[in-house]
Amino acid sequence: MKQGDESLAARSLSREIYEEAGALPTEVRFMEVCGTHTMAIHEAGLKSLLPENIKLVSGPGCPVCVTEKSFIDEAILIGKEYDACLVTFGDLVRVPGSFGSLASYRAEGGSIRVVYSPLDAIAAAEEALGRPTVFLGVGFETTIPTIAATLKTALGKGVDNLFVVSAFKTIHPPLKILAAKDDLDGFLLPGHVSAILGSNCFEYLPRDFHKAGVVAGFEGLDILQALRDLVRMVARKSPHIANDYKRVVRSEGNPTARALIDEVFAPCDASWRGLGVIPGSGLVPKGPYSRFDASVHLPVDVPPAEDDPRCRCAAILMGSRTPDTCGLFGRECTPEYPVGPCMVSSEGTCAAYYKYGAV
Ligand code: SF4
Repeated sequence: MKQGDESLAARSLSREIYEEAGALPTEVRFMEVCGTHTMAIHEAGLKSLLPENIKLVSGPGCPVCVTEKSFIDEAILIGKEYDACLVTFGDLVRVPGSFGSLASYRAEGGSIRVVYSPLDAIAAAEEALGRPTVFLGVGFETTIPTIAATLKTALGKGVDNLFVVSAFKTIHPPLKILAAKDDLDGFLLPGHVSAILGSNCFEYLPRDFHKAGVVAGFEGLDILQALRDLVRMVARKSPHIANDYKRVVRSEGNPTARALIDEVFAPCDASWRGLGVIPGSGLVPKGPYSRFDASVHLPVDVPPAEDDPRCRCAAILMGSRTPDTCGLFGRECTPEYPVGPCMVSSEGTCAAYYKYGAV
């Protein structure tokens, strides 16, 4: 679509949102579950196209942000105690741990290798010639199938020095907790995760919680269309699940990818920043793949970790606060000197507010 046509389409969608919102007696709040949506909303300045009574809040869909500080601590301790090479995605490198970040550990001589694909971890392990090579596993159902494929390939090749620290998360358990909150009226559902899980799997939102949900793409117009549909559902008191990202998301998702996850991983309890321990919301390698489980084969004593009490990441991930209400935002906490993970991650809400402003 040409730029002028896009702008016309955006104005038309905005007008429809205003018309639907005009029928609402009170303010309504929608949560964008996915960190990529958070960034896209701020980059496109979409909040400026919404009426006063439509509020968008961010949710727990940034995997780096919801990963507890103790995960960084565990990784560094494994690196030190087992002389391991740590393999990670770049987003994690600057996240503060209790005794420094992976970046500061590297500066002290620790071995850190940044990769763009989990499959690169196999090459790293083969090059390490027997030295333990530990992949730092964070991510949702979007990333997990490629990590499952990596472990399957490693098993087939007989790679015996590759391990994974597992902080994988699944989206339904926290979404059910958030759906029970009275101050949320609907959800902009994550497009990437939905490509794996499908759109049908969110039917519990209207059925059990009377909340609306729309699967959305990541272009500005995709998001505006999804917001128009959410406002319409609330205004007409007919919450349901809509799939506005049909060019990528099928109602049944990707069964092959889900089967791969089920083959390699088993559910476990997982701790989320802001939400605490949620039963069954994590994944660990199972069966023959448990040979890759770092918590079993490279155990370390991780002391309890505490976040800086002034950091509001936990409340931000629950949609209860916005970054500009944190006293450290833009002063003591910036992307160069982050205090919390929400300022580090490329999908973090604080990073989005810092880079693009509150709109
Ligand atoms: S601005 Fe920094 S300290 Fe404040 S909530 Fe965000 S990450 Fe935490």
